[in-house]
Amino acid sequence: LPQVKIPVCQIAIETPLRRLFDYHLAEGAVPGSRVRVPFGRQHVVGIVVAQAADSEVPAAKLRGIEAVLDAAPLFSTADLALLTWAADYYHHPVGEVFATALPRLLRLGRDVAPVQRSWHITNAGRAALADGTLRRARRQQQLLEYFAAKGAVDEQALDAALPGWRPVARTLREKSLLEMNEQTRSIATREAVQSLQQGPVLTAAQQSAVDALTAPGLAGAHLLDGVTGSGKTEVYLRAAGAALARGRSVLVMCPEIGLTPQLLERFEARFDAPIAALHSGLTDTARARAWHLAATGGARIVVGTRSAVFTPIPNLGLIIVDEEHDSSYKQQEGGFRYSARDLALLRGQQRGVPVVLGSATPSLESLHNVKLGRLTHIELPERAGSATPPRIALIDMRAHPVNRGIATPLRHAIDAHLAAGSQVLLFLNRRGYAPTLLCQSCGWVAPCESCDARLTVHLAGGRACGSLACHHCGAEAPQPERCPRCGYGLQPLGHGTERVEETLAEFFPGHAVERFDRDSLRAPKQLTDAIERVHSGSARILVGTQMLTKGHHFPDVTLVGVLNADQSLFSTDFRAAERLAQTIVQVAGRAGRADRPGEVLIQSQYPDHPLLKTLLERGYAGFAADALQERQAAHWPPFSRLALLRASDPEPEVALNFLKAARKIATPAAGVALRGPVPAAMVRRAGRYYAQLMVESSQRTRLQAFLAGWVPAVESLATSRSLRWVLDVDPLEVL
Ligand code: ADP
Ligand code: ZN
Repeated sequence: LPQVKIPVCQIAIETPLRRLFDYHLAEGAVPGSRVRVPFGRQHVVGIVVAQAADSEVPAAKLRGIEAVLDAAPLFSTADLALLTWAADYYHHPVGEVFATALPRLLRLGRDVAPVQRSWHITNAGRAALADGTLRRARRQQQLLEYFAAKGAVDEQALDAALPGWRPVARTLREKSLLEMNEQTRSIATREAVQSLQQGPVLTAAQQSAVDALTAPGLAGAHLLDGVTGSGKTEVYLRAAGAALARGRSVLVMCPEIGLTPQLLERFEARFDAPIAALHSGLTDTARARAWHLAATGGARIVVGTRSAVFTPIPNLGLIIVDEEHDSSYKQQEGGFRYSARDLALLRGQQRGVPVVLGSATPSLESLHNVKLGRLTHIELPERAGSATPPRIALIDMRAHPVNRGIATPLRHAIDAHLAAGSQVLLFLNRRGYAPTLLCQSCGWVAPCESCDARLTVHLAGGRACGSLACHHCGAEAPQPERCPRCGYGLQPLGHGTERVEETLAEFFPGHAVERFDRDSLRAPKQLTDAIERVHSGSARILVGTQMLTKGHHFPDVTLVGVLNADQSLFSTDFRAAERLAQTIVQVAGRAGRADRPGEVLIQSQYPDHPLLKTLLERGYAGFAADALQERQAAHWPPFSRLALLRASDPEPEVALNFLKAARKIATPAAGVALRGPVPAAMVRRAGRYYAQLMVESSQRTRLQAFLAGWVPAVESLATSRSLRWVLDVDPLEVL
């Protein structure tokens, strides 16, 4: 009997199952569109990935699609290919990968109507016109007068009538003189976008960078390796401008928009184009709208964090990955642990679109890729404008008196820079008041109940006797007054940012201190306010964590102090040195960005440590060259490829036993080695015991082939369902 072939749609559905699901073909169910389908006893939303002429599922079992939700597909064929590739490479269930790419409301099957924005004057705006407050701000005055005469005007009409209106309108909106309304409309723009500002005359190095990125017909991947303040952002803006002028769109990836609003602001100020910003701070509705605006071509610039790499952007002409070394490009939580930087490279290659990875401290991976010819190396060796590189020196903490974490030479330098009217920035990668609460009589330290970790002392509302918090699981407890073991008094030991803030206020009275860490700046508004106080000059001393190292431009900071460089000098993680070098160089780059020369002082107990010496004598490039040799000798990435199978369970030993079983069922493969399993460096965390098993190969293809067979086998282990496990391909940390 001839087999009857039944054409089907292959659909991605958010489940842990590693496959697509076949349904009868339906009218309009083209690849890339969302459909509603019966799934078990539920009804779920899926995405059509492909159509096939036949199915392996018996005809009697095939079910039908209930509804097609999109009139036009959301994802292009290339978008679908990128997602499918990611599911394969990270060995993650394809339905969950697709779920990562889609905002929640769209995943729920909601329809997101694209927005039409219109603007109108407020009562306060009319009052400002009447009393002449804006006499001095001519463009603002004119725009307000325009709105006073016209009433509500939509953005398309504004674009046509008043090129360059956006930045002025934004300023007026911040002053509550104008308001914006959002309604729905359909959008499609492919017109040339104008630059609003010219930007500075490029340096020769910048010009050749821009030429390389905009050469016609030349796609390719580039590493823009430029010291802080060398004008990388200006290069991005010019390259973006060229793509926009050709009617193409631009994807700008950044580690965290909340921390670096300045990048987004510079794109907004430069281009007269709708911008979609995609980041974690958005409400579901705002996120779905921004995503939809990008996916339908309504946004010409898409600025986004990690998951934005999956956002469909019709007519994409350029991909920028700013601060490419930043670890937040790698998803390190949950199941799907992808690297947005690596996927951005793939996306560019797949579509013949240039990709530029920018950093002052490129990752060793990227520097290695330069050597292999996979990235071209574009260098901006000097600071733009009149800024000169800072002088960097070490302070030996053993050789100088240290008072409450601050050595005398640093204290004198702070005094001198403040007296010269400059601002001072102090970096300490430890938030809270003190990392330890210690009993001075019996040696008891306050432990976390659920982790192998100590509790950090935090000030509670500024009181010296504060609260305790675990930085690993988030547990909180009031600070005990006496030692629970011996009844003696307790002392906070060591220095966190809160304590340094207190010390600085005492050492340098009359100089306002601004603290930048996750506790002091919980809301985006708090960060913008703090940045504003730095720019206005009311803040004189800045103290903070990693947050201070990220892309800020504080022109009046001339002294940077690194309070403790030693924390990760002796870490066993193979990437710790790279991280530390990047952090030091990034924070040093905050010094002297304008016309006043900068000074950087690094406090250390180990000033002879090779890492610090190399960094000071030969800079980041010298450090990176040495570090790459060490990686090669030790056979670590990028000279080998890794995957980690991590597991955890509330009971001790369960995770370890599971990983032992996983190792046992592995079919030996040439060129692939398994190491472990071993307990994690911090075994107990949030009440669970962690362990890991490492897979290593010198060749990506071999590792991939091994994983493709092994992961499904691991999944079919009986215990795999009762504990938590996750595969991390190209892990950042192997602790
Ligand atoms: P990066 O992104 O590398 O840190 P930016 O692009 O932010 O550098 O530039 C640093 C500063 O130098 C900014 O204030 C910028 O406006 C200025 N700048 C950039 N390029 C030039 C140039 N060619 N001439 C003068 N100033 C420039
Ligand atoms: Zn804890």
